[in-house]
Amino acid sequence: MATAKKNHTTPITIIGGGIGGLSLANTLAHFNIQFQLYEQAPELTDVGAGIGLSEAPLKILDKLGLGSDIGKAGAIVRHVYMPDKQLKIRRKLSVSSETICIHRARLIDILKNRLPESCIHLSKKVTGIDVSKSESTITFNDGSRISTACTVAADGIHSVIRRKLLPHIRVRYINQTIWRGISDLALPELFKNSFLEIWDQRLRFLVIPLDDVQTLWLAAKPELPGGKDDPKTVREDLLYLYRDFHPALKDLIRSSKNVLRNDMNDLGTKKRPWYVNSVVFLGDSIHATTPNLAQGGCQAIEDAWCLAFCLDKHGTDYQKAFQAYQNVRESKVMNIVKTSWVFGKAAHSKNPLFHYGYRSILTHAPEFFLRRQESFLNDLSYLQKL
Ligand SMILES: Cc1cc2nc3c(=O)[nH]c(=O)nc-3n(C[C@H](O)[C@H](O)[C@H](O)COP(=O)(O)OP(=O)(O)OC[C@H]3O[C@@H](n4cnc5c(N)ncnc54)[C@H](O)[C@@H]3O)c2cc1C
Repeated sequence: MATAKKNHTTPITIIGGGIGGLSLANTLAHFNIQFQLYEQAPELTDVGAGIGLSEAPLKILDKLGLGSDIGKAGAIVRHVYMPDKQLKIRRKLSVSSETICIHRARLIDILKNRLPESCIHLSKKVTGIDVSKSESTITFNDGSRISTACTVAADGIHSVIRRKLLPHIRVRYINQTIWRGISDLALPELFKNSFLEIWDQRLRFLVIPLDDVQTLWLAAKPELPGGKDDPKTVREDLLYLYRDFHPALKDLIRSSKNVLRNDMNDLGTKKRPWYVNSVVFLGDSIHATTPNLAQGGCQAIEDAWCLAFCLDKHGTDYQKAFQAYQNVRESKVMNIVKTSWVFGKAAHSKNPLFHYGYRSILTHAPEFFLRRQESFLNDLSYLQKL
């Protein structure tokens, strides 16, 4: 697919060692393009719980030679169930494309394992950046500086670099909060290898297998951003909130060692440049999405493949590479951000009629309608435009 034009004279600088930054490091290595990655944390890991990967990113990870490790470390999802809170099944769908759920720390391990240690710089927090057409000067918290011809900002939704270069893009809160945890308990055998999506009033509860032993659960409800949990009582508080739910679901909450909390947010869908001079953005730093469609990480992986491909094709003509990357990625990603936002609004709507209507669509919509969404997410044919 690529026309080999590896005339990069200096390494690409990647800021951020999350799913996006590490995927890019792997794809650049695949295209034989040198890189240096800078991460603020003292080690590469993810404290989050689990993550679902759909077919498109799995195909990319497979091209990178990581598919079999991901397959071994995660769990395949074969069915989607939409039961009520007592686990009475309202709808069952077979998953027609490959979908794997995996513990985030394991995914990060797989992504980092093949990268040369000499290219990874930890405890390097970016505190400032000055940018011109030909280079950026990046300042770190330890006072050190680097100058680089091409910088990829993969530093997440609260990106320092985006706030400096594109200050008009703001984090948008949907006023919903999500809790998640990992349990060593499994649901009844019927739900093995299944994803469960449960809506009741304005509460949502999701269950996803992580491997043969562990189960990930997520609980979401309307809530103003900025709230904090008391770690001593968070499980009891959630058990009270979900008190009418099936005991097997409450056991998942009860048995989880850690419970994480996140406000749901995104960066909206207003048109924006994905690059400024010698800096290009990737993943959550430019198109964070609410987690309703479980696509943020998947899209960061697709970004990584596409950007590396463009850098390979256009060599040091960075502006051309960045524009080509934005041209092919923007429409799919923005569609996902929009759909995910609407899905979240519907799931937790105050208006019972709206909520009921949307739930009915989900439980009664003809299968082809849901399949269409699935094939849109799995589509990689846009890469042929490159
Ligand atoms: C509850 C929840 C569930 C989700 N479930 C899914 C799912 O099932 N499937 C899916 O695909 N996505 C899911 N997502 C979304 C997914 O987690 C994100 O989209 C993905 O992690 C984005 O990757 P990223 O590399 O762009 O950003 P991040 O993962 O945020 O990584 C950014 C990295 O940059 C580093 N960094 C930040 N600032 C600096 C700095 N100043 N200097 C140096 N380094 C810095 C950070 O330490 C971090 O390592 C979910 C999100 C949430 C909140």
